Amino acid sequence: MYEALYRSKAVLFDLDGTLIRGEEAIPGAVSFVRQLAEMDKRIVYLTNNATRTRETMALMLGRQGFPASPETVLTSSVAAAAILQHQLGSSKKVYAIGEEGLTSPLLAAGFELVKNEEHADAVVVGLHRQVTYAHFEHAVRHVLRNAYFLATNRDRVIPLENGFAPGAGALVALIAYATGVEPMLAGKPSAAFVDQALAIAGVERKEAILIGDNLETDILAAKNAGIHSVLVESGVPFAGNFVPEIKVHNLKELLQ
Ligand SMILES: [Mg+2]
Repeated sequence: MYEALYRSKAVLFDLDGTLIRGEEAIPGAVSFVRQLAEMDKRIVYLTNNATRTRETMALMLGRQGFPASPETVLTSSVAAAAILQHQLGSSKKVYAIGEEGLTSPLLAAGFELVKNEEHADAVVVGLHRQVTYAHFEHAVRHVLRNAYFLATNRDRVIPLENGFAPGAGALVALIAYATGVEPMLAGKPSAAFVDQALAIAGVERKEAILIGDNLETDILAAKNAGIHSVLVESGVPFAGNFVPEIKVHNLKELLQ
């Protein structure tokens, strides 16, 4: 087994393109994660995907055979809600583009989700598969009126069972282009997001390793947070401009 993985006390897994594609487990992924869990490694799922709540994601992972509970799933939308609480203070009006995975933690954190042209203190954008031009129009107007602009993530694409679909980053890019304003970022490659996962696992930096398929998000996040990482080439095709610590074609290679 790859030494940094063998010595680790916690393994932080990316989900899309690393363990799952759409609703399906990637072949070999379930047995790989179960084997690590049986070695008493703490498993945390660290996903930029903001479309599902922690509860829904944990249920889906459990159905596929992964050892998972809502507490071990950290989504970029949970991080986004925490950032907004810190940034907005007592201001509570948020314009959100996203699915239940984003709106549910925002409501739980006490935010009021405004519609259309009402005043908004912040605009938060995640993947929304029913997004319309009107959503973008409202978001652009709020950002131009100086609403705090936050993205759950900026992934270019999301790997599904049958190929790639535009990711949250493609939606975020439309608003950034129209307004000339770049958003703050909740998910990977933010080091703070990795720190939250380390806190869930209850381990130090040197005791953790992050396994993901995306250089620009997963591997850069690990680099930013100062933890070990592995790039697995089962997901997105885009290269970043730096070299991963270790690169494998699939998870099984890490056991050799
Ligand atoms: Mg991924």
